[in-house]
Amino acid sequence: MLKNYKVCIFCKSKKRKKLSQQTFKDNFYLKAIRNDLSLTISKLKKMKVYECQNCKLIQNDPWFSESYSRKIYSNIYGQHNRSWSNLINFVKNGKTPDHGELFSILQKNIKIRKYAEYNSPFMGIFLNFLKFESKRKRISFMDLFNSTVNYLNSRQVAGKSKNIQKSSFIKSKKYINIIRKLKKNYLKKKRVQKYLFVDNSNLSWGVNDNYKSVNSRALASELLDLEIKSFDHKSKKKIDLFGIFHTLDHTFEPKKVLDYALKISKYTIVYCHISQNLSKQHLFSLTKNFLKYLNNKKIYTIDLTSRIKKKYKSPELYFLCSKKKLKFYY
Ligand SMILES: [Zn+2]
Repeated sequence: MLKNYKVCIFCKSKKRKKLSQQTFKDNFYLKAIRNDLSLTISKLKKMKVYECQNCKLIQNDPWFSESYSRKIYSNIYGQHNRSWSNLINFVKNGKTPDHGELFSILQKNIKIRKYAEYNSPFMGIFLNFLKFESKRKRISFMDLFNSTVNYLNSRQVAGKSKNIQKSSFIKSKKYINIIRKLKKNYLKKKRVQKYLFVDNSNLSWGVNDNYKSVNSRALASELLDLEIKSFDHKSKKKIDLFGIFHTLDHTFEPKKVLDYALKISKYTIVYCHISQNLSKQHLFSLTKNFLKYLNNKKIYTIDLTSRIKKKYKSPELYFLCSKKKLKFYY
């Protein structure tokens, strides 16, 4: 079940140092993992945290094998709770995910016509764009959300009788009309072009990230009118801003993901955890010193963590990066 990860997942360096403080903290995710895989706490305690001496990333070793990692992120914890909570909070209360003043700072500095994110669709600023692009303040996002869920649900007729299939078809027609009407009445014509780049990472939510049996990617594409593209797609069009929100540490190929984002976009914004107590459901975590490593590699970074005036509940990092020198105003 466990596998050795002696080489740094990001830079592939073998130079590493065991952290002197090794703490084990149980949590909601680990309880589910322990229960479903019949694991003891002592087995999890075998995982020790190491710091890469080259890029300063921290990493657990040993950790779950790729196939168990997939089992964790698709079956045991298939629904990305935090991502759905962001969406539900938005449709209920109109509140966008808490990124402090990030959205307005980005808008002030970057002319965003094309915007992309990687994997989980409700962790970043797609919902900020949706709010920004609505004509009136009081648009009912709840109606739009419910109609979209109902529309996608109405197409799930496997095993149902002919009569139910017929009435489901009428439902689909009804909801798609409501969706069109709501969008026409409430959303501006000129909107940012949105893309969601997805892959089948076994360290990430995806295939089973469902709410009321509707998958997050299908829902996001309908709700936000975004184009879903497979990661690594050879894109000729430059994207103005690429957001990687809590997903760079949910892939076995973080370097490939970051390099790709930097290649196809002018700017990339990354949001991640940086706790030194790397919890055992995570293989690795970036650190603040990781930015120095990027700078040495001629990837320019701006640390926005304190600039966005967010009230942090745990140690997190927000940084903007680009292959070109950055100038930013606050
Ligand atoms: Zn490294």
